[in-house]
Amino acid sequence: MQVLVLNSGSSSIKFKLFKMPEETKLCAGLIERIGHRDAKFTFSTQKETLQLTRDIPNHKVGLEILAKKLLHKDSGIINSTDDINIVGHRVVHGGKLFRDTTEITQAVKDKIKSLSTLAPLHNPPNLEGIEVAETIFKKAKQVAVFDTAFHQSIPDYANKYAIPIDFSEKHSIRVYGFHGISHEYVSEKAIQYLGKKHSKIISLHLGNGCSITALKDGKSMDNSQGFSPINGLIMGTRSGDVDPSIIFHLAEKYDYSIDEISTLLQKKSGMFGLTGYNDLRDIKAEAKKGNKACQLALEMNIYRIKKYIGAYAAVLNGLDAIVFTAGIGENSSYMRQHICEDMDFLGISLDEEKNNFDSNTGIKAIHSDTAKVKLLVIPTNEELEIAKQACDLLANNLN
Ligand code: AMP
Repeated sequence: MQVLVLNSGSSSIKFKLFKMPEETKLCAGLIERIGHRDAKFTFSTQKETLQLTRDIPNHKVGLEILAKKLLHKDSGIINSTDDINIVGHRVVHGGKLFRDTTEITQAVKDKIKSLSTLAPLHNPPNLEGIEVAETIFKKAKQVAVFDTAFHQSIPDYANKYAIPIDFSEKHSIRVYGFHGISHEYVSEKAIQYLGKKHSKIISLHLGNGCSITALKDGKSMDNSQGFSPINGLIMGTRSGDVDPSIIFHLAEKYDYSIDEISTLLQKKSGMFGLTGYNDLRDIKAEAKKGNKACQLALEMNIYRIKKYIGAYAAVLNGLDAIVFTAGIGENSSYMRQHICEDMDFLGISLDEEKNNFDSNTGIKAIHSDTAKVKLLVIPTNEELEIAKQACDLLANNLN
């Protein structure tokens, strides 16, 4: 069974092709700067990595280049586009309409489109990827895996905002939670590691976007990204938690438009807004050289994460494990060390030597021998999770 996974953004498509159920990655890559004459196509297999720069005006042309490459006799991955059995699509917002992974029909596409008001930056390109894939991989089953679906288990007392209930209902306002595919993948691995039936886990997805999830027995109980992915932790360019009256203040007193404020909070804030850099490696290097803004931004970032860990440990009434994942979680020993500092009252104690490991394949346990709480670094694999969920869905549909 060949499963192609697509993550279609407004100007990019990430892809991975798996042989399932073996979970063998056949190829992976990225189409970037779609809509530009100098768009980039990166394609890698076990044998080669290739990069092309060419005019890719839209998603259709991008996926056609991908199909051509898959079919090329040198790569020898498929003989016909009909060899692809399933295309699994990451769809960011499933709203209240999708609690589960779903086979795509016209009705499903209409619903994904209707949810674009909740995710204007994400759902339209996700849908475009689906529609183009349908025309290229005609025999494949198309399956949508939603980033919000995993968080549908968040209980009412945690998923509601304290605004009039009829208002929330009418305008679909609630905590949706995001990065669900990643939190689900790493928490399943953590549960296997713990080897116990009941578990209390905090999962930290720290990448360009950041979110933290409280999980009880594998179910999401809360997530720091609420109604939208702006909320919660300090991210690459997103502010995380802010008092909403800052928005009124900027609009009423200083005449900023809603568009300007939205751009400010989503694209010009977070670590970038605080320092001028959004890559943590640059910020850390600058902080080391004495850059005060970078030092403060790191302290703020770490403080916010610790605050959420404390809150979620209370939500769970205990803690078995903290999982670190995504670009920063998997690679920054500095962040992991400082997040875990002075948290011994919760049973958190990090082993510095174990924390400074070299490679990040597989699960790395970085807690000290006597620690109550396991500290686990688990590389996320959202694409594999999508492939697995799509295969499970279709196997269940056949049974
Ligand atoms: P992601 O969104 O998961 O791809 O994560 C991307 C982010 O991870 C980058 O913007 C960096 O801030 C961060 N990152 C990647 N590698 C490292 C590293 N070795 N040390 C610190 N941060 C890293």
